[in-house]
Amino acid sequence: MQFNDLGLDQRLIKKLNHLAFDKPTEIQKAAIPVGILGKDVLASSKTGSGKTLAFLLPAMQRMYRSKPFTRRDPRVVVLTPTRELAKQVFAQLRTLNAGTPYDGALIVGGENFNDQVKELRKDPMFVIATPGRLADHLEHRSTYLDGLEMLILDEADRMLDLGFEAQLRRIHEAANHRRRQTMMFSATLDHTDVVSIASDMLNAPKRISIGHSAEEHTDITQRFLLCDHLDHKQALLDKILETENYNQVIIFTATRADTDRLTKELNERKLKAVALSGDMNQTQRNAIMSQFERDCHKILVTTDVASRGLDIEKVSHVINFDMPKHAEEYVHRIGRTGRAGNKGDAISLVGPKDWKSFKNVEAFLQQSISFTTIEGLEGKFKGLKPAPKKKFAKKKPTAAKQQDKKTQAKPQAKKKMDKRFYDNMAVGDNVFIPKKKKPVSPSSED
Ligand code: ADP
Ligand code: MG
Repeated sequence: MQFNDLGLDQRLIKKLNHLAFDKPTEIQKAAIPVGILGKDVLASSKTGSGKTLAFLLPAMQRMYRSKPFTRRDPRVVVLTPTRELAKQVFAQLRTLNAGTPYDGALIVGGENFNDQVKELRKDPMFVIATPGRLADHLEHRSTYLDGLEMLILDEADRMLDLGFEAQLRRIHEAANHRRRQTMMFSATLDHTDVVSIASDMLNAPKRISIGHSAEEHTDITQRFLLCDHLDHKQALLDKILETENYNQVIIFTATRADTDRLTKELNERKLKAVALSGDMNQTQRNAIMSQFERDCHKILVTTDVASRGLDIEKVSHVINFDMPKHAEEYVHRIGRTGRAGNKGDAISLVGPKDWKSFKNVEAFLQQSISFTTIEGLEGKFKGLKPAPKKKFAKKKPTAAKQQDKKTQAKPQAKKKMDKRFYDNMAVGDNVFIPKKKKPVSPSSED
C-alpha cells in the first residue's frame, strides 16, 4: 500500500515524495483514512512507528480540503507533554506546511509569554503546544478555541501522569462543540486515567491498536544487568561505554541530582556527555537538545523528561542507569532507539533499589526477564524475595477475647522492617505507587 491509496490530497503526496517517505507505516495506514473522514481516533502503536505523520497528514488534508469554521481561531491544536516534543512535532509540521498559507505557532512553557501573544495574534492555523502554557493563554484570552476543528493529544497518557488533566479539560471545554474532531496517540494508552478522559473528550472514537504496548519491540535488543550498589553500577556503565559500539547514547537516571553527578563523572573521563533536566531554563534546554541532535555530544544524561517522543536518528543505545518509576516509561525510554526500522540496544541496570521498579516493568511487559552479566563484573545481588503476604484473621473476636485485649499490655511496636528492605525504597525508587494526578508546577514541564 502506498500513500496514494490512503485518500490523501495530491499536494501532500508530492510533499511526501519530496521528503522521501515512500510507504506509509502500519499506524499511518490505519489512522490516516479514519482521520481524513473526520472521525475521532484513539490510537496506539509502538515507539518510532510514525505516529506524528499519522495525525499531521489528516490535519493538513483538512486545511487543503475544507473551509475554516472561523477566520480567527486556530484550526488544529496538537498537545504534547514536553516542550522538546512540541518542538519536534512543530519541526515535522514545518516540513509539510512550508510554502502553504497554513502556518503554525509553537506555544510552550519557558518561552516569552508576550512573544507568544503576538504570535497568536497572527491567527496561526496550527498551534503546537504544551497544555499548561496553552491553558494560560486561554486564561489570558490571547487565543480562543471556538473555531477549533481538530484537537490532537500526542502522548496523552503522559500528560495525565504529569498532572495536566485540569489543563486538558480546560482546553477541551474551550473547544467543546459538535464539529470538533479529537485524536489521541501514544505507545501506551491502556491506563485507566486515559480511558476516563478519552470517554469525556472523544466522540465514538475508532480504536486503532497496532500491536500491544507490552509487545516486544523487535528492533530493540534489550539486556538487563544486576548490580550490587552504586559503585558497581558505575563500573558496569564504564564497561558498557567502553565496549559497546555506540553512535549516540541516552542514559536515564532516577533524579536530576543523579543526572548532574553522572554527567560530571563522564565528562571527567572525556566522554562528551551533557545533562538535560526539567529544572533548567528553556534556553539551556533548547541549546542542549539542538547540540545533541547535531551530534556535538555523544551522551545525553537525563530523566523521564526525555523519555517521550523524541526522535533522534543517531541514538543507538539507551541505558537505564536507574529503572523508571512508572513501568510504561520503560517502553518509552527504550523507544528513543530502534526508530523507523533502525536497530537499537537498550541496557538496564538493576540494583536493590531498582528491584520493585524492575518487577513492575517485568509485569508490564508480561514476560519473565533474564539477566546477563559482564565478565569480571558479576555481582552478588540476585534479586529480592517478595515480602511474605500477611495473613489477616477475619474472624470476629469473641467477647471474651475482646475483654482479654483490653486487659493485655500494649502489644509491642510493629517489628521494624529489615533495614535493607527499607533502603530499597529510598529516593528515586518506587513501590509501585499508583499514578496520582499531582499538579506539576507549570514552570517545570508545561
Ligand atoms: P512515533 O511518534 O510513533 O514514536 P515518529 O512520528 O516520531 O514516531 O516517527 C519516527 C521516525 O520515523 C521519524 O524520524 C519519522 O520521520 C520517520 N517516519 C515516519 N513515517 C515514515 C514513513 N512512512 N516512512 C519512513 N519513515 C517514516
Ligand atoms: Mg511520537
